[in-house]
Amino acid sequence: MVDQLTGRLREVLPDEAVITDPVRLRTYECDGLTYHRATPGVVVLPETAEQIAAVVRLCQEFQVPFVARGSGTGLSGGALPRSDGVLIVTSRMRRVLSVDLDARLAVVEPGVTNLAITEAVRDAGYYYAPDPSSQQICSIGGNVAENSGGAHCLKYGFTVNHVLAVELVTPDGDIVDLSAMDAGYDLLGAFIGSEGTLGIATKITVRLSRTPEAVTTMLAAFTTIEGGGRAVSAIIGAGIVPAAIEMMDALAIEAAEAAVKCEYPAGAGAVLVVELDGPETEVETQFAQVERICREADAFEIRVAASAEERAAIWKGRKSAFAAVGRISPAYIVQDGVVPRTALGEVLAGIDRLQEEFGIRVANVFHAGDGNLHPLVLFDDGVAGEGERAEIVSGRILDLCIEHGGSITGEHGVGVDKSRYMPRMFTDEDLDTMQLVRCAFDPGNLSNPGKVFPTPRLCGEVPVVRKGPHPFEAELL
Ligand SMILES: Cc1cc2nc3c(=O)[nH]c(=O)nc-3n(C[C@H](O)[C@H](O)[C@H](O)COP(=O)(O)OP(=O)(O)OC[C@H]3O[C@@H](n4cnc5c(N)ncnc54)[C@H](O)[C@@H]3O)c2cc1C
Repeated sequence: MVDQLTGRLREVLPDEAVITDPVRLRTYECDGLTYHRATPGVVVLPETAEQIAAVVRLCQEFQVPFVARGSGTGLSGGALPRSDGVLIVTSRMRRVLSVDLDARLAVVEPGVTNLAITEAVRDAGYYYAPDPSSQQICSIGGNVAENSGGAHCLKYGFTVNHVLAVELVTPDGDIVDLSAMDAGYDLLGAFIGSEGTLGIATKITVRLSRTPEAVTTMLAAFTTIEGGGRAVSAIIGAGIVPAAIEMMDALAIEAAEAAVKCEYPAGAGAVLVVELDGPETEVETQFAQVERICREADAFEIRVAASAEERAAIWKGRKSAFAAVGRISPAYIVQDGVVPRTALGEVLAGIDRLQEEFGIRVANVFHAGDGNLHPLVLFDDGVAGEGERAEIVSGRILDLCIEHGGSITGEHGVGVDKSRYMPRMFTDEDLDTMQLVRCAFDPGNLSNPGKVFPTPRLCGEVPVVRKGPHPFEAELL
């Protein structure tokens, strides 16, 4: 069916925008989650919303599934292609269409990178606030689909708080506009975070924020992770909302040190990166409070960035943490879960127990202010069974998050990787209700099928929801 469709795709797209060469197709086999792979049936590189709409209409005509892809940095396999489908890549849609500083907004194409938006308005004293660590390469379309966050989302909110309107191609191939100003149901809110299952964003209107008058960045080193945790609770408890509070444990620090020589204080069991921003006087007052709180929580060293270079040096270790772990382990799983801030200590103790039980090391990096954990579960794929044990530990960490009232994802999405965990968090009725929303947009289940939901099914089918332990557990325990 894809072969027949490919001929028709060449009628609506320039020849070079339709990729069928097997070698070139392999470029698109996976996203940032490299252990899920599939060769796409065909890849298209459209340049306009009309072209995307024409491709989607053809997919409907041939009943062929389609998957949107931005930069392919997703960490849950959301952009995993289908060998029986079309991969629609937005990398040729990279124009900042307009900037209106009076209205504090910019209109951009979906393939524009997150950082490019800030770069377009920085000189005028503005920036785009959500800042995933992947911001140099990830696309704004991908950010919308994942409702991406970043270190500064504690104070400024996630993508959903900064997107004012989206033009999208629906799974039927219509081009429609959704706006925060729309009356009635919040369809824009439903679309943001829908992981490509409700259509493809083709134009995005984002809110621009004023660059803060002052920014202070500090690094506080603690002997134990409990000390860092106490400081986080006390800072938030004091009514201070820092722009960011990020924590790394000893193993994550070791990895960052090996990769980027960030020179964090020796002997630290945990470090906190705390950033305060806003009017100068407010930042000064709050900084004094944060410093006192950290010392009371037994911080043994506090460094304050005195220049933009020193600020970058403090952030370097944290921002490189995911990739850095590759220096101390041949392979690793990046997990993403959320716990209420008050449960951080218990969940971290639980992760320690899992490390002992399964003989697997876990490096912890987290957006501590909003309880968003990114445990990095290390394993050696050359050692028989270790990858499977790491998978179990990774799943058990999510169980811990759920048991403590948290979530199976904070910002990386469900994709293909976590769909199996959805029944651990949601009842059959919950999943059916979500499925109804999906069916309202995509009754034929052609827009990124097989993602988010544990059991693919067409609208109206009786749901069969998989429950119970991860399949590997039955084999190993
Ligand atoms: C080193 C590293 C650090 C990261 N740090 C963070 C972080 O701090 N915070 C965070 O939130 N994430 C982070 N991520 C994850 C990732 O960068 C984000 O999820 C990002 O939003 C994905 O954007 P992308 O363009 O790469 O999307 P892709 O990976 O291409 O796609 C992601 C999903 O979006 C869908 N999609 C893509 N474009 C569109 C579109 N135009 N319309 C509809 N659906 C679309 C795809 O189908 C897929 O489901 C990190 C990833 C890496 C590799």
